[in-house]
Amino acid sequence: MALVVIVDDQPTNRNIFARLAVSIDSDITVETFGAPLEALAWLHDHTPDLIVTDYKMPDLDGAQFIARLRQEPALADVPVVVITIFEDRSLRLRALSAGATDFLHSPVDHQEFVTRARNLLKLRRQQLQLADRAKVLKLRLEHSEQALRDSSERLGQVIDSVPSLIRATDLSGHLLFINSCQAGIIQADPATIAGVDAASVLGEDIGIRSNALDRRVIEHGRPIADVEEEFSDSTGAKRVFLTSKTPLRDATNTVIGVVTCGTDITERKLAEEHLYQLAHHDSLTDLPNRMLLRDRVRRAIVRARRGDSSFALHLIDLDGFKGVNDLLGHSAGDKFLKSVSQRLRAIVRERDVIARLGGDEFAILQTDVRAPEEAEMLAADVLRAISQPYMLQGERLTTSASIGITMHPNDGDDFEELLRKTDLAMYRAKGEGGDGYRFYATDMNTRARDSVTLDADLRAAIAKKQFLLMYQPQVDATTGAVIGAEALLRWRNGAGEIVAPGRFLPRAEENGLIVPINEWALWEACRNAKAWQELTDKPIRVGVNLSPVQFQRQDVPLLVAKVLAGTKLDPGLLDLELTENIVMQETHSVLVQLQQLQTLGVRISIDDFGTGYSSFSYIKRFPVNGLKIDQSFIRDITTDYNDGVIVKALINLGHSLNMQIVAEGVETAEQGEYLRQEGCDVLQGYYFGRPMPLAELHELIRQGTGLRRSA
Ligand code: C2E
Ligand code: MG
Ligand code: MG
Repeated sequence: MALVVIVDDQPTNRNIFARLAVSIDSDITVETFGAPLEALAWLHDHTPDLIVTDYKMPDLDGAQFIARLRQEPALADVPVVVITIFEDRSLRLRALSAGATDFLHSPVDHQEFVTRARNLLKLRRQQLQLADRAKVLKLRLEHSEQALRDSSERLGQVIDSVPSLIRATDLSGHLLFINSCQAGIIQADPATIAGVDAASVLGEDIGIRSNALDRRVIEHGRPIADVEEEFSDSTGAKRVFLTSKTPLRDATNTVIGVVTCGTDITERKLAEEHLYQLAHHDSLTDLPNRMLLRDRVRRAIVRARRGDSSFALHLIDLDGFKGVNDLLGHSAGDKFLKSVSQRLRAIVRERDVIARLGGDEFAILQTDVRAPEEAEMLAADVLRAISQPYMLQGERLTTSASIGITMHPNDGDDFEELLRKTDLAMYRAKGEGGDGYRFYATDMNTRARDSVTLDADLRAAIAKKQFLLMYQPQVDATTGAVIGAEALLRWRNGAGEIVAPGRFLPRAEENGLIVPINEWALWEACRNAKAWQELTDKPIRVGVNLSPVQFQRQDVPLLVAKVLAGTKLDPGLLDLELTENIVMQETHSVLVQLQQLQTLGVRISIDDFGTGYSSFSYIKRFPVNGLKIDQSFIRDITTDYNDGVIVKALINLGHSLNMQIVAEGVETAEQGEYLRQEGCDVLQGYYFGRPMPLAELHELIRQGTGLRRSA
C-alpha cells in the first residue's frame, strides 16, 4: 500500500499524473491538490510515500512548498519530485536546498515519470523498513539493558546480604567492588570505592599482604585459600576472617583482577584458643603444663644450636607439701599451690616459662643463660620466695623446695633427657635435706674441665681438618626435582666417630671457634656447589648455615665476596641460612651486612622460622628471600590441628612478603603432600633424603629427582 500526493494548479496535469501514478502498481492510492496550502493542511495529518509537485503555482512556489512540508517531522524523509518547465539552474538549486529529492521536466515524458516514481517508492519502502528495524532493535536493547540492570541489582543485593566479606580488585590493586559486610568493617562507602587503592582503605598491613597475594593469584591464575585477615571493627574489637582469593576473569577468560571472600571466624578462633589453653595449661594454676613446656624446651634447643645463648631447666618440688593437704584438706592445698605459682610468676622474666608438671612439681625454663651462676641466682630467688610464710585458713604456714637444675647443651640435647637428669638432680637436693638446689653434674669442676677438653679438641680438629660436610637435598614441592642442597657440618673426631653439630657447635659459638670452622664450611660448600653445576643444566643452589657470632666478629659480606670470587659460584646459587635471632639483634651493623649481602646477589633465608621471637612485621624490613619453617611445626602437621593452622599461616604470610617457603623435617609422604597442597614451595627432610656425602648427592642430581624414600 503506497500513497502518492500530487500538487498542481493545472487540472489536466493533475489527472495525467494521477493516472500515471496509479499505473505503477495495483495498490497505489493517489491524492491530488490544486493549491499547495490546501495540500499542506492535509499533509499535516497524513504521511504519503511520494509527493509530486509543480514548481510554478499561485500562493507558494515549489521551493517554498517543500520547505514548509519538510518542517513536519513525519515528512522529513518523504521523497519529493518537482516538475518544472524551466531550464533554470537557480530554480533547481532553490528547490534542492529546500529539500527536493528529484526533478522532472515539463512536458513530462510518461515513461520517465513512471520509472522515477517507481524507484522513489522503492527507496521509500526500504527507508521505512530500515526505520522499523532500528526501532525494534532500540526497544530490544532497552529491554535487555533493563534486564541487566535488574539482574545485577539483584545480584548486588544477594552479595550484600551475605554475612561474609567480598571485595574485588583489578590488576593494579584498585578496588572494583566491595560488599556491605566489607564496607562495614573498614567503614567505607561502597558507592565511592571503585578505583581506590585497596591498600589505602584496608589498612597498611592487610593492604600490603593482600596485594602481594593478589599478585600471586594473577601470576599463577590459581586461587589461594585459608588466608587469615584481621580487622578491627568500628568498636575497635578484633575480627578474624578466613579468606580465599580467586582470579576474576572476563568473557575471554583473561584474568582481570581478584575476588577476595572471607568468612568471619572470630568465634571459632576464640574457641580454638580456649581449647589450646585447656590442652596446654594446668587448670588449677593456669600455668603451662608439661606439653607446652616440652614444646618450649624444644624450641629453645633449636635456637641454642646456633649461638642464641643457652638455657637452664629447673625442676622445683615442694618439701612436705603432703602435710598441707593432710592438715588443711585438698581445697586449701589447691589454694596453697596457687600462691606458690603466683610467687614463681613474680620472679621469672617474660621470656622464661614456668610450668606445673603435676602435684607440687613445677619447672622453669630459664632462657639466655650465659653461665651456671645465672641459673644459681634464679634458684636462690625461687627458694627465698617459696620460703616466705603463707596465710591459709587463718593458719600461718611455711614450706621450702628442692630444685634440680640442668644446663643445655652440656647435660643433654633433648627434652626427655634433660628432664630426666633434672629430676635426678632434684632428688639429690631433696636427699640432702631439701631447701636447696643441685646441678645435675657430679660437680661443677668437671663441667669446667669438660669445656676445656672440648675447646682443645675443637682446636685440634681445625688443625687436623677433621670437619666434613654432608648435603641434604631440597626438592621443588610440585615437581619433586632437586633444586638445592643444604650443607650440614659434621666432625669426625679422633676416635673416628661422626659427631653431630648439636654436640659441639654451641661450645664453638661460645669460644669463637665457630668463625674459622664456618669459614671453612662456606669455602667447601661453594666449591662443591660450583662443581655440581656441571652435572645438570638446571641451577642447583647450596644452603650454608651462618652463626650470629660471625656477624659480631667478622665482616660476613667481605668473606662471602671473597669466597664467591675464589670459587666463581653464581651468587644467586648461594643461600645463606640465618636464624631469626641474627635478624632480631637489629644492630645497625647486622642490617648493613645483610644489605651488602643482598647487593652481592646471594639469597638470604631465615632458618628454623617460628622458633624465635621475631614477628612478620619485623622480618619484612629485612632483605630476606626465603623462610625455612622449623621441623617442630612439621612433625605433627597432619595430626595436630594447631600446627596445621600455624604452618598454613606461615606459608601465606611468607608469600605475602614475596618469600619462598621451605619446609624442614619432612619425614612422611603425607606431610609432603599436605605442604604441597598448602602452597609450600620447597621441601626438605628425611623423606626426600637424609644428609648424605657429596658423591651420593651427585648421583641424585644426575637423576634429577629427589622424590624417593630414603633408606
Ligand atoms: P638446621 O640448619 O635447621 O638443619 C636441619 C637439621 O635438621 C639438620 O640437623 C638435619 O640433619 C635435620 N633434619 C633434616 N631433615 C630432617 C628430618 O626429616 N627429621 C629430623 N628429625 N631431622 C631432620 P644437623 O645436621 O644435626 O644440624 C643441626 C643444626 O646445626 C642445623 O640446623 C644448624 O643450625 C646447625 N648447623 C649445621 N651445619 C652448620 C654449619 O655449617 N654452620 C653453622 N653455623 N651451623 C650449622
Ligand atoms: Mg639450616
Ligand atoms: Mg633449620
